[in-house]
Amino acid sequence: MDDYYSVRMRAADGGAHEAGGRHISGGERLVCKEELEAAVQTLLRRAMTHELGQPDFVNLTVEKVARADIGQLEALPISQRVAHSVAEGHAAAVELLVQAGVALSAAQKGVALLVQGPAPDGGVMRGAVVMDADTGARLERDPGRGVRVAQHDWAPDALARWKRRVEPLGLDQVRVAEALALATKVAAQAGTVAELCWSDDPGYVGGYVAAATIGYVRIAQLKEPGSPLGGRVFFVRGVRNVQDYEAVLAVPVLIEDATAERGVW
Ligand code: AMP
Repeated sequence: MDDYYSVRMRAADGGAHEAGGRHISGGERLVCKEELEAAVQTLLRRAMTHELGQPDFVNLTVEKVARADIGQLEALPISQRVAHSVAEGHAAAVELLVQAGVALSAAQKGVALLVQGPAPDGGVMRGAVVMDADTGARLERDPGRGVRVAQHDWAPDALARWKRRVEPLGLDQVRVAEALALATKVAAQAGTVAELCWSDDPGYVGGYVAAATIGYVRIAQLKEPGSPLGGRVFFVRGVRNVQDYEAVLAVPVLIEDATAERGVW
């Protein structure tokens, strides 16, 4: 079995060193050797052309991963919710989070946090907020960094199959595919109740709520066009040690497409 390569990218400005700077963009891939160069190129291009600005620091890491160490997960089923305004989108997000088992007050707090900018300076974080699904308390140790999900990607062929299947719904977009891979990994992790996400990309107003119980539900609008704020909140229950929780989110995994047709999914 051929080895795989984990490729990680982080771009920042306002401090050309490892720890500092404003987060601009990041990306994670897990690819075979033949795809490695293209993956590096795509992530570098993303870093250099992000709408949030030109980075003065880009960190690209390539790491070999033994094929035998890579697990498999089946992609969450995907559906869509219409939202004609940000208010409607937020109401849908709260409703879905509660349906997935998050306390109403925690769901509302998660939405409010992404609206205001979840980093301590009111900006975006590099990773995700980890929030207690019952109390709404933030659990991540570093609220500027949060926790990062790493070493996940679509299995070869699975992405093309999935795209063909969701094309009639207009969901065959790279951005949705990447987010679905990440959300599938987060939802499968012990302790996760649900995830809330919308992009920090000023030109992209959509987002989602995902959970093992409700699948990946894309919400058409969760912010105003032009807003540079966004982020992710992982709502958890029974997570004692956030470092252990994050360690499992970095275990290598390839996402498979459901082999059987299942209605609109
Ligand atoms: P994006 O959907 O790429 O615009 O990312 C939106 C937000 O999600 C970012 O601002 C980060 O806070 C968070 N995020 C992005 N990638 C990851 C990741 N691999 N793990 C955890 N959080 C992430």
